Amino acid sequence: MNYNMDEKFKNYFQDNLKQVFLYLIDDCNLRCIQCLYKLDICFQVEKKEIAYEDAVKLISDFRRLGAVKLTLMGGEPTLYGIKEKNKPLLELIKKSKELGYEYVRIDTNGQFNSELLEQPEFQMLDEITFSIDGPTSEINDNIRGKGSYAKCVANIKRAKELGYNIDITACISKELIKRDENGNLYLDRMIKFAEDLGIEKINFHNLFKTRNTKRSFYREY
Ligand code: SF4
Repeated sequence: MNYNMDEKFKNYFQDNLKQVFLYLIDDCNLRCIQCLYKLDICFQVEKKEIAYEDAVKLISDFRRLGAVKLTLMGGEPTLYGIKEKNKPLLELIKKSKELGYEYVRIDTNGQFNSELLEQPEFQMLDEITFSIDGPTSEINDNIRGKGSYAKCVANIKRAKELGYNIDITACISKELIKRDENGNLYLDRMIKFAEDLGIEKINFHNLFKTRNTKRSFYREY
């Protein structure tokens, strides 16, 4: 083991640990209304990312405890090592496969440069989950920031073309339980939207109150 783990933890998880959620970075290029990652309410936003060497040590130790499924998340995980053209992220995906992780996935807001999808290491991912909060740009962008819908949908389409296994995560907001001018529930339209993109799975998340009322904004990287 690379780290001195608490014996109780080790004994409890040895051969029982199945999956790991690894938070790579606490920064994000969006500021969605519902997000906890905001400087004014979050307990730990310091724009920090985990050192690559530490991430490798952690996933190695967790693999030894039995983990076979790894989820890379943040903040926004595609910002991990962005100044080095995502080299640490790509290396980490490759390393996790070499270590024997059977299922490696990433949770993303879909705002990354689409060239990332072309990278052979990124193509080792077993699943990409895109977060999008509405079937129209009006609904989504009001929650997640201007332009975020178009960028995310473009990356979903490109990922589909390249054969990635994709699903969508959507937060259920009050907008999704409204109806459009034809009487269609936006929640139903969300499912149709996913179907039209050729996506077979949507995770709906419910929201809980955090007293966070500030508007979202989009930040360029
Ligand atoms: S994409 Fe939105 S919800 Fe996800 S971490 Fe960034 S600001 Fe938060």
